[in-house]
Amino acid sequence: MIRLRPTWVEVDLGAIRHNVRALRPDGVELMAVVKANAYGHGAEPVAKAALEAGATWLGVALVEEGLELRAAGIDAPILVFSEFPAGSERGALDARLTPTLYSVAGLRRLADAVSSPASVGVHVKVDTGMHRVGVWPPEDTVDFVGDAVAAGFAVEGIWTHFARSEEDAETTKRQLELFMTTVEEVRASGQAPRWLHTSNTGATILHPEAHLDLVRPGIGIYGIEPAAGVGAELGLRPALTWRTHVTSVRRLAAGERTSYGHRYELAHDAWLATAPVGYADGYPRRAFAEAEVLLHGERRPVAGVVTMDQLLIDCGDLPVEPGDDVVLLGRQGSRRITAEDLAGWAGTIGYEIVSRIGPRVPREYVASEDSAKGYSARGYSARGYSG
Ligand SMILES: *Cc1c(COP(=O)(O)O)cnc(C)c1O
Repeated sequence: MIRLRPTWVEVDLGAIRHNVRALRPDGVELMAVVKANAYGHGAEPVAKAALEAGATWLGVALVEEGLELRAAGIDAPILVFSEFPAGSERGALDARLTPTLYSVAGLRRLADAVSSPASVGVHVKVDTGMHRVGVWPPEDTVDFVGDAVAAGFAVEGIWTHFARSEEDAETTKRQLELFMTTVEEVRASGQAPRWLHTSNTGATILHPEAHLDLVRPGIGIYGIEPAAGVGAELGLRPALTWRTHVTSVRRLAAGERTSYGHRYELAHDAWLATAPVGYADGYPRRAFAEAEVLLHGERRPVAGVVTMDQLLIDCGDLPVEPGDDVVLLGRQGSRRITAEDLAGWAGTIGYEIVSRIGPRVPREYVASEDSAKGYSARGYSARGYSG
């Protein structure tokens, strides 16, 4: 993509590698979840960095996402979390994507698409309480696995997904018990699936008893907490910095009102700066009443409604000029705005903030020192991005 507008995302692959190493429990394999363009960070570079750091599997939501990773030359096993859509089975299997199965119709379609099912390892998903997809009720799993085996498939994995792992131990324990009971029934029927897996980031951090053979963290890999304070002891590093530049500056008197609806009023005479980024880029419009950005190392308020392509910043008496560096997410000097901060102002979660940064925003890649010990904020800003 041709890049002229000074608005971009910078992704630190050193942080991705660091986070993968910090999250992977000893003796357990790690599937890096890179669905939704790696939560907005860029699927291919993130997947490659995660594999370099010891991830052995990749997880995606869509067949399309798996095909894109294969086209990028990635050879690692890739699990697709939902059944392949009708008609996509052959292409997905040709690309060696690992199917998830949980419905009789899905099993039949896959069996019809393949000539030698024994060469296809499938993972059966069990619904233990999320109630989205998966075999339900869980006690039907043993028969379903039997059907898959009868169709000739190798059932290599059984998995489930937690609804509240980052916030409620009781629910998680119940889901895990239901899962293990199901697994025991499957084993009693003579099957011995190699991969049992349940743990998203919340469970990877909080529930070691749920790690089993493979953990599936997503948000933690990006250095974002699944809930406030969860994983603070791991020192996860946010990988994403969202940058823009001031494009226009004007001096306005106290009492002037700004942007659509004139919903922001200047309390004092101030410099008002314009930045070329808006809700069409994924900056949440509804954050405007509380949102702040970093400029000259300070937090400054967004001044009025975020528009489709631009937003305004109340700079007070800061001597701001066109070209000055603005950080929407990430660190500038000693200050940081996290995805969780922006999510709080917008009434959502960090996941939604980063995964919705749009395709108009180019992604650039840097690599900070990524050893578990060697990181320092100084080392990072010394790369010369402070504007
Ligand atoms: C998204 C997803 C994950 C990762 O969840 P995080 O909370 O981001 O760690 C794991 N497993 C499945 C099935 C998912 O859909």
